[in-house]
Amino acid sequence: MTEELALLDKHDPLAPKQALFHCPENLIYLDGNSLGLMPYAAKQRIQEVTQEQWGNDLITSWNKHQWIDLPTTIGERIAPLIGAGQQQVVCCDSISINLFKVISSAIKLRPGRQEILSTHDNFPTDLYMVQGLQALLGEQHCTLRMVDEEQLASSIDEHTAAVLVTEVNFRTGRRLDIAAITAQAHRQGALCIVDLAHSAGVLPVQLDNWQVDFAVGCTYKYLNGGPGAPAFVYAAKRHQEEMCQPLFGWMGHKQGFAFAPGYEPANNARQLLTGTPSIISMSAVDAALDAYDNVNIDDVREKSKQMTSIFLKLIQQSRFCQELHCISPEDPELRGSQLSFEYEHAYSLCQALIDRGVIADFRAPNYIRFGFAPLYNSFQQIANAVRIMESVLAESIHLQSRYTVRKAVT
Ligand SMILES: *Cc1c(COP(=O)(O)O)cnc(C)c1O
Repeated sequence: MTEELALLDKHDPLAPKQALFHCPENLIYLDGNSLGLMPYAAKQRIQEVTQEQWGNDLITSWNKHQWIDLPTTIGERIAPLIGAGQQQVVCCDSISINLFKVISSAIKLRPGRQEILSTHDNFPTDLYMVQGLQALLGEQHCTLRMVDEEQLASSIDEHTAAVLVTEVNFRTGRRLDIAAITAQAHRQGALCIVDLAHSAGVLPVQLDNWQVDFAVGCTYKYLNGGPGAPAFVYAAKRHQEEMCQPLFGWMGHKQGFAFAPGYEPANNARQLLTGTPSIISMSAVDAALDAYDNVNIDDVREKSKQMTSIFLKLIQQSRFCQELHCISPEDPELRGSQLSFEYEHAYSLCQALIDRGVIADFRAPNYIRFGFAPLYNSFQQIANAVRIMESVLAESIHLQSRYTVRKAVT
């Protein structure tokens, strides 16, 4: 196996990308689905932006360094990674805020329908944003209905204004068929809103081809834009004329710098912007995206599938396979770039692994998640991570009391 993995690394078309990222020595980082590694280019860009642009050029930088265009220039760079043509994606705010904009827009585009249909197991912030909108508008205008993932497509009906679906389930790593769900939504006269948090940069998303109506995603996971980096939002061109997102901000105005008292939205994707962009953070995203230059997303997906398959196979071959129950789909086509295991002592196992240089994460109540980032993880790292995990489990190191106390961020 070791030789086989070395060979895979040797012939990996993405291997040269590893050098673009800072990885602390002796660390196996399998948490790129929560916060990607830092690209050297991002670090350097932040230095430039603070020293030269903010430090010396100050206010003139809005024009001189095109700060004002960053939300759209970065949006256009993200677009090809998610199968979107030009002028449909902007970079701004967080996923949560962008969800508010697009869920409101969807409800308004479907008068007489009040239901947002989602899954019980969706990421909580997605569900919370609908609940907040319901609290604001009242149940006659907005309700949330949650069903099981398997029932999502078949539950869409004449009350559904929009389906709110995350392509890859953050707990289980299960990937849903967005093309099919969108098609079914449209047959029922509903819209489809997709959350790409665990897709962007790692799955061959085809927003335009799938006819998705709205989408959101973040840049700090597989896109490596840095902690709390701004998110992105997609609005299909066909909706841009008619849609109305209610967070009227001056950056979304047709002519923000006319300072008119009345709001008039820009008639393109810029209408999704609200306030002043966070330039330092956004510049880091811009630089981080360089890592995707000349990358074929199909190669990324292929390596991702291989990585999850090898990791799973090694676990299944180990004598601990009975204790760790994989809750991710067996078929690599049906999962994203992560594997999750249910295990009684998942939290302490995770802590003990962190202490031994293997970073995974824990999700309540008892799941340990491993994320695989094809741009910087190698096949040999995968095998080493499993080996370290086996030694922890063999000696029950994780059951020591120092690993069982919960920290604030799990
Ligand atoms: C990480 C993640 C988010 C994060 O939302 P923010 O508002 O950007 O913090 C949202 N949805 C999903 C599915 C996620 O995995």
